[in-house]
Amino acid sequence: MKQSIYLVEDETDILELLILKLSAAGYRCRGFEKASAMLEKLDQELPDLLLLDLMLPDMDGMELCRLIKSDPKFSSLPIIMLTARIDLQDRVKGLDYGADDYITKPFEGEELLARIRAVLRRSLSQKDKNILILKPALKLDFNRFEAFIDDKRIDLTLTEFKILQIISSRPGWVFSRSQLLDQLWGTDKIVVERTIDVHIKNLRDKIGNYAASIKNVRGLGYKYDPGDLTNAQS
Ligand code: CA
Repeated sequence: MKQSIYLVEDETDILELLILKLSAAGYRCRGFEKASAMLEKLDQELPDLLLLDLMLPDMDGMELCRLIKSDPKFSSLPIIMLTARIDLQDRVKGLDYGADDYITKPFEGEELLARIRAVLRRSLSQKDKNILILKPALKLDFNRFEAFIDDKRIDLTLTEFKILQIISSRPGWVFSRSQLLDQLWGTDKIVVERTIDVHIKNLRDKIGNYAASIKNVRGLGYKYDPGDLTNAQS
């Protein structure tokens, strides 16, 4: 499948040129002239890379970069900043805000493509480390906070996903309700332990045949037991 790139650039001619070049190089491109429109789309579908102009009409590119990188749903999205500014301060600031690379306008097409390839390569090797495949067919993608059973996406809430992430990180290990609460919301937030049971119940309902892999250990808490997965579909 083609890798996809979102581009945010308010100068229409530059945006069109970029889309032309990147499409010719085999990327699936989607252009936006405003940050707000891109953010809306981002919520529905995550691209493989974001090419972001620094000067935008509705939002500062740096601010947008910081916003995306601080949201766990989007933080793994690689960002290359496009900037007309030659000021070193701005570049350093951009990298501080989490941009993966930057390129100064006017740029050479070949240089841009080389940088895109390099950033995508780095991101891909990082992504592989962030995907957990639980035998035989439960897959957790920590980049996109998505879970799949037999390659079919299951619709988990962020809390359900995190519970699965926490308990599956140590198969067979019993997590008490208060440990789960601490990891989910920190110690400062007051949440009753019963809340965990509700989330676990919903999670179990959603993972259907694999529900048996989440075990309730009486009086202690919950554990993830992949041993049961081998018989899950029988
Ligand atoms: Ca601009």
